Amino acid sequence: MVKVVKFGGSSLASAKQFEKVGRIIREDDERRFVVPSAPGKRDSKDTKVTDMLYACYDLVEAGQDFTKQLSAIKARYEEIRDGLKLDADLDGEFEIIRKNFEEKAGRDYAASRGEYLNGRLMSAYLGFAFIDAAEVIFFDEDGVFDAEKTHKVLSKRLKTMDNAVIPGFYGSLPDGRVKTFSRGGSDITGSIVAKAVHTDVYENWTDVSGFLIADPRIIQNPQKIEVITYRELRELAYMGASVLHEDAIFPVRQEGIPINIRNTNDPSDSGTWIVGSTCQKSKYIITGIAGKKGFCAVNIEKDMMNSEIGFGRKVLQAFEENEISFEHLPSGIDTMTVFVHQDEFVHKEQKVVAAIHRLANPDTVDIESDLALIAVVGRGMRATRGTSGRIFSALAHAHINVKMIDQGSSEINIIIGVANADFENAIRAIYDIFVETRL
Ligand code: ASP
Repeated sequence: MVKVVKFGGSSLASAKQFEKVGRIIREDDERRFVVPSAPGKRDSKDTKVTDMLYACYDLVEAGQDFTKQLSAIKARYEEIRDGLKLDADLDGEFEIIRKNFEEKAGRDYAASRGEYLNGRLMSAYLGFAFIDAAEVIFFDEDGVFDAEKTHKVLSKRLKTMDNAVIPGFYGSLPDGRVKTFSRGGSDITGSIVAKAVHTDVYENWTDVSGFLIADPRIIQNPQKIEVITYRELRELAYMGASVLHEDAIFPVRQEGIPINIRNTNDPSDSGTWIVGSTCQKSKYIITGIAGKKGFCAVNIEKDMMNSEIGFGRKVLQAFEENEISFEHLPSGIDTMTVFVHQDEFVHKEQKVVAAIHRLANPDTVDIESDLALIAVVGRGMRATRGTSGRIFSALAHAHINVKMIDQGSSEINIIIGVANADFENAIRAIYDIFVETRL
């Protein structure tokens, strides 16, 4: 069995954290392929090395002196190297980086050095081989990740290796220049490596013990999700729950490889398993709750709307013409409501309303603002009767007015619209009814 292990920035922020990571890897010889992030924050006031690199390169681009900033970045790595008593030539590495900065190697190159240098140190610390991600992770001319080429080259290269450290976050373009994924992209590299070696599990080590059922800023000490499916995760992530980069799901999902989110600071915790499908029931009927504030509802009314063919299309055309995507579309007999993001919509609202009048000739168009959407997600809901009844009685008890209900056709989620001001209370009420009282 082989495991691919990715460690996030806070797991690698200092020599002390590196030691924890070293223990985790050494205690299981199946953990053979390691994907490190750049050093993250050591405490809440600290700055991530990636952010330091971006700021440093801003100076390069502005033609200003960047010596001090680059030395501060070097100091982060020296602390790790010296704390671990490693023999690594950081002077040489930073000399190359300085030269490349002067030659304007690009922002992506700059940012990628965070992972590259951490990979170098990790390889020296573990005694594992080092592979520069630029040699095995590829993007095409348009900067789009080239999955096919990458898989071919990477799987061939790793096949004969006992172990390796492959830095996360970056790869190369056809002309050899470095290109990064979007922020948090080391998760994607981990997933790509997991696919390339057909691993049995992709372990993603971070500073929390997995996904929580609800946002800990709203619910005190929420319970952890033990097992979640990729689909459930997509629904929750879309509604704002985040632990893992969204794009990290695709490479492993295709291969049916599960992801195990683990906590570097608490390795005995089994974390959360993200799987394709499972017969394991979740502990509660719901798997998770997530939500977002800041939506507007555009309510459109027209007598006999139900019998007018093409009415919905004309209304949506008004949004399309103004390049506004809609979130939800609940409708009644003579009414139709379009939920949109308030910040996207606010500058264009009058243009959209005028277009609705021009295209669909409604009786009234009315806008309601400051709404929130809450997604209650759970594979268990499909087989359980009365889930929505429970949600709505919990909300009624909490004196919360429900503005919209939308049950996705997959039956694994129910979306509820409430006023922004009721958002937190609504989440608490739903959490209580399913998790605290386990109804
Ligand atoms: N270091 C990069 C970032 O801060 C990538 C990562 O950590 O995954 O976004």
